[in-house]
Amino acid sequence: MTAATIQGKTGPWEMVIGLEVHAQVVAKAKLFSGAAADFGAEPNSQVSLVDAAMPGMLPVINAYCIEQAVKTGLGIAGAINRRSIFDRKNYFYADLPAGYQISQYSDPIVGRGAVTIDLPGGVSKVIGVTRLHLEQDAGKSLHDRHPTLTFVDLNRSGVALMEIVSEPDMRAPEEAALYLTKLRSILRYLGTCDGNMEEGSMRCDVNVSVRRPGEDLGTRCEVKNVNSIRYVRQAIEHEAGRQIAILEAGGGIDQETRLWDPVKGETRSMRSKEEAHDYRYFPDPDLLPLVLCEAEVARIEGSMPELPDAKKARFVAAYDLSAYDAGVLVADRETADFYEGVARGRDAKLAANWVAGDFFAFLNKSGKALAEAPVDAGRLGGLIDLIGDGTLSGRLAKEVFEAMWESRESALQVVERLGLKQISDTGAIEAAIDAVMARESGKVAEYRSGKEKLFGFFVGQVMRATAGKANPALVNDLLKRKLGG
Ligand code: ADP
Ligand code: MG
Repeated sequence: MTAATIQGKTGPWEMVIGLEVHAQVVAKAKLFSGAAADFGAEPNSQVSLVDAAMPGMLPVINAYCIEQAVKTGLGIAGAINRRSIFDRKNYFYADLPAGYQISQYSDPIVGRGAVTIDLPGGVSKVIGVTRLHLEQDAGKSLHDRHPTLTFVDLNRSGVALMEIVSEPDMRAPEEAALYLTKLRSILRYLGTCDGNMEEGSMRCDVNVSVRRPGEDLGTRCEVKNVNSIRYVRQAIEHEAGRQIAILEAGGGIDQETRLWDPVKGETRSMRSKEEAHDYRYFPDPDLLPLVLCEAEVARIEGSMPELPDAKKARFVAAYDLSAYDAGVLVADRETADFYEGVARGRDAKLAANWVAGDFFAFLNKSGKALAEAPVDAGRLGGLIDLIGDGTLSGRLAKEVFEAMWESRESALQVVERLGLKQISDTGAIEAAIDAVMARESGKVAEYRSGKEKLFGFFVGQVMRATAGKANPALVNDLLKRKLGG
């Protein structure tokens, strides 16, 4: 799946991918103003004088956003820089009233870090993170509200973003998808970004180049603002193919900024690549360097939750799960907590099968969120207890689960209401077997004369006679004994 090369007409090529992720910080207020940062509000209803860049307004840094960035930095094993600087990045845009964005350039708040991705086959790969810096978001131009006018909504202007830049360490679209999934999972565990790509609170610029294996890095193109993981995959695939075709035809790649067109499934040129010096970065004279004290960083470090990788390792060790099962269960924090609620004190493997199997199948079909599921962790645990003590066979348990989902009852309530208790009474099962054998004496004779594949037929008949409630293991044992004799 993550083959390192793709085949061109003249031989194999290697893709090189680096991602820049813009993650909107979860915070009540903006990075340098007290205006609200909620999504979906009435246009221009959350705009302070600072966000509208009125002359003479001064930015005041939001300490909570800083804490969120530090937390995220620690979550991606990043070096927390004790001193960082806010710069002005100058450019003109209708939805950027100040004419510059406050960002960080030479001295970001977080330096080198790493995100580990799990490749198929149990192999993991470390993707380097170059830096994480804080910056303001711009406003939004609305081109589709009027035939000849463009409207500007400044609600987003000044909202805190973390830009997380990866090293060009990925070699296949699938690796980029795994990196984004893992990064999003970490951000959500930390509560520092909701990771919602459809609402734009996590956006991705995709840098792609190709080279012959073993050669130096090729010239990259940057595909801007790709807003789903599926599109990231497709954009990489398309962009690499486009570059290979140019190179194989003897051409060269122009470093440029491109757009992804999800309808046509292709990238197209937006502008030639701007250089850092085009932005005339300089330290914002309204803001002092940001200095973090040790005690503050230590306090934040102490408040960190257990993150997916650590949780996965613990699940494998404590619950004896496969790395794959553990990976599925820790992908988000709610699922992991739910699983632990079910597994604690029970057969952990069976609990994992139920959570990842029937429970998720029903949940996905219902379109409900985990917290709204009609069967909570305690009730699912109760069902597993009834399997453990022999009250329910696996098959009956599925039936009970379905009824629990409908009625919100406990497993025991359903078992009693529907009379679904497994029959483990030897006498009752023997009676059913005797009746079947008497009725099917011909088949009994055939079986005894060597037609052993008839055994399944007898099992089916006994199960039918007991309305599916006989303990399957007991039926097997008793049938073997009686048919044998
Ligand atoms: P810029 O702001 O100019 O886009 P950044 O340093 O913010 O520059 O981001 C550069 C991104 O491009 C990083 O994610 C990096 O990994 C990636 N990158 C750099 N060189 C290459 C290359 N040759 N091929 C693919 N990606 C690259
Ligand atoms: Mg860039």
